[in-house]
Parts: sequence; C-alpha cells; structure tokens
Amino acid sequence: MTINPPIMPIREIIAGMYQLQLPLADKRMPQLSHVNAYLIQGTNGWMLIDTGWNSPSTQQTLESVLKGLNLSFTDISTLVITHCHPDHCGLAGRIKHLSPRTRMIMHSWEAELLESRYIKFSEPQKKMNNLLVNHGVPSDTADALGAAFLPALEFVNIGLPDSLVYGGEMIRTGVFDLEVIWTPGHSPGHICLYEARNQLLFSGDHVLPSISPNISYHILSGDNPLGDYINALSKLVNLPVAQVHPGHEYSFADLQGRVQVILDHHNQREKEIVEIMISGSYNCYEIAAKLKWNMRNLSWENFPPLQKRFAITETIAHVEHLRWKGKIRKTYENDCFNYHLV
Ligand SMILES: [Zn+2]
Repeated sequence: MTINPPIMPIREIIAGMYQLQLPLADKRMPQLSHVNAYLIQGTNGWMLIDTGWNSPSTQQTLESVLKGLNLSFTDISTLVITHCHPDHCGLAGRIKHLSPRTRMIMHSWEAELLESRYIKFSEPQKKMNNLLVNHGVPSDTADALGAAFLPALEFVNIGLPDSLVYGGEMIRTGVFDLEVIWTPGHSPGHICLYEARNQLLFSGDHVLPSISPNISYHILSGDNPLGDYINALSKLVNLPVAQVHPGHEYSFADLQGRVQVILDHHNQREKEIVEIMISGSYNCYEIAAKLKWNMRNLSWENFPPLQKRFAITETIAHVEHLRWKGKIRKTYENDCFNYHLV
C-alpha cells in the first residue's frame, strides 16, 4: 500500500510555472488525495491547467494559492481542461463566473461529453444500462451501477468552452508555448500538453506515476477505447521529456519506463482473460467476476457499485481490444454478447 505524502498546495516547477495540489477529500476515491492543477505565466494573464472539483475546500485552496502569488481569479486568462471528469473540470463554471474574461479550452469530443454527463444525462444513462445488460449484467444490478455515478454531479459546476481543440494546436501564453496532444482512452477527448523548450509534459490522467488509469468501455467511448489508449501512449514514447507533470500523485522523470510498465500491465491482464476463456464462452459480466481485482479482500458480490461498474466496463474494454486484435470472436444470443477464443 502506498502512503501518500502530505498535500503541498503550491510548488514551483520552473520560474513562471507552478504545480498546485488541490484536495479531493472524498471517501469514495480513497486512493486519490488530490488533483494537480498547473499555473503557467503569460504576458496577458495566467493559464490554468485543470481546476479540481467543485467543493468549498478546493475553491479556497485555489484562492489562497493565487493570493500568495499576488493574483486573483481574474488573473486567469486561459483555462485548459485535460478532460471532463469532475476532479479536472468541476470548478470551471465558478472560475468563469468569478473571472468573465477567462477563455476556456478543451477538446471538441470532451465538450460534447459535458452535456451527456452533467446536463441531459438520463437518456445516456438508459443507454448505458442497456449496454451493461447486453454484456450480461442482471437488470436490477445494472440500475444500481448506473445510479452510482449520480453523486459525482454535485462536484461539477459546469463551465462551457470558448474554444475547441482537436490535437496538434499550439497554445501560446506569450511566455511559454504548449502543444496540444490528443490522447484518447481514459476519456475520448483527453489531451496532454507538451512544452518543448523545457521538455515538460503535462499528462493529465493519461500517464500517472503509480496508478494505471481506468480505461472503460462506454456508450461514448468509441468501440475500442483500450486500443485508442495504447495508440496514444505510443505518441509519447519518442517525445524528449525531462519531467512529467501528471493530474494526480507526483511529478516524475522516466516517461518511457512508466509507459512500458503500463503496457506490461495491460498485456498481463489480457493473458488472464485469455486463460479464463480457454474453458468456454462467456459474457463480460462473467469474465469480470472471474478476474482478480485489487479490492481490499472484498468478494465480487460485495464490491461497491461504482467499483463494480468500473470492473465490468474495464473488462469490456479489454475483451473488445482482444476482439479487434483478432483473438476473440463475439456472438449475440438471447440479448447478450458472448465471447469465445478464435
Ligand atoms: Zn482524475
């Protein structure tokens, strides 16, 4: 078990760049003590990468960090969101309210997700429940798993983007130039930012130093999110990077080494799935129940709903990736997808 060091609200990376550790006090996510936001100097105001979620303690921490630099919310001229999960974009609406001049930038696909996740979410939730049932989840369990996401809504005060990116653009602050790198997988419109002069990568949740990011199959994920994720890792391996500044945990140097560990982890998981499937044809709910999960010795039946949902949707992502690699075939019988080895 890793012991998290105490949260450090502000740390200078280099002159004109700061890492801010904003608290995520929530017992449903005990492994994440904080989210890292980044404050980057510009000639016409500062750029903030990610916001933390919508909670008084996050807002207060951000406000006091700004104050310590003789800044306020109105000094944030640009807000870049790596992806639309609550811990990365939840405070965006409040920041834009407090600072009307702030221009918010995010990937086009991520902007589309804002509506289905946080505004008109009942129809997508129904589709997601159907998807789970099609993968073998009993319908009463699917309802409970679908509802597990609703509490996250309180952590989001929605801000809408003023400008969309697709990957490949350069965001210039006047002091630093940051290249947008589209890295789908953890979320379809996830982006990293690369600062070439100092060889710094702001990796969001795409690459974290010890946690392997959740890659889940979803109605809006596309049909092979794990394949997308692995392809997006390959975009980074030849990039000259001296320091990676991630969305959680701590900054680190060895990007190539970390990417290899993540790839090894996914290969190992694939092997486990193939071994399970040697004995027959299964749906993803059955495969998920047979896999080993790091869940504090809880039995599969006693997994908390959110964790169970992640386990199932991660399993679907793995199985579908194996299918697109030609190792597994899919059939549809009795309203359910079944998979078997080729
Ligand atoms: Zn996150």
